[in-house]
Amino acid sequence: MNMHPDCERIMLTEDQLRARVREVAEKVDKDYDGKRPLVVGILKGSIIFYADFIRFLTMPVELDFMAVSSYGSGAVSSGKLNIKKDLDRDVKGRDVIIVEDIIDSGFTLANLKALLTERGAASVSIATLLNKAERREYGVAPDYNCFDIENEFVIGYGLDYNEQYRHLPYIGILKRSVYEK
Ligand code: 5GP
Ligand code: MG
Repeated sequence: MNMHPDCERIMLTEDQLRARVREVAEKVDKDYDGKRPLVVGILKGSIIFYADFIRFLTMPVELDFMAVSSYGSGAVSSGKLNIKKDLDRDVKGRDVIIVEDIIDSGFTLANLKALLTERGAASVSIATLLNKAERREYGVAPDYNCFDIENEFVIGYGLDYNEQYRHLPYIGILKRSVYEK
């Protein structure tokens, strides 16, 4: 596989991603048997995971998206979540599955889960591609997670650095020289 020159190394290959996303999606499919969940993708980081994930689901699903940001990109998120694009659908009474690229401090997902619960969702679960468990500061955990990873800055498969690298088909560790210059 051709590795982008800004990558230190490939952490997860396309094959590893496909196999594990399938495994997790099949578990979700079983758990939601008989239901019709609203699958909420968090833009933009989740797009590739989301697209792969939903194609392994056999139950009827409805798709929707949100875009959120927390001010500042440092280790400590402060303030409330900023909703840049809200859902099209009403979540009242719905079983919601939030699909997110990565859970780090947990700020984003703790706030999103609280928001959708407050809006009257029947249930809210969280599916993440990556989990940096050691970085958690907020009391939230994914119900479904594909990979636990070390505290490294990763890119690709939807994840960016300054809006670059999202299209890389693998998860790579970004070279420090790229963001430390
Ligand atoms: P949290 O709110 O859990 O602290 O942060 C979640 C968000 O931080 C993710 O949605 C993502 O945008 C960003 N993030 C955290 N770690 C990484 C990483 O290693 N690479 C990239 N590209 N984004 C990250
Ligand atoms: Mg994100």
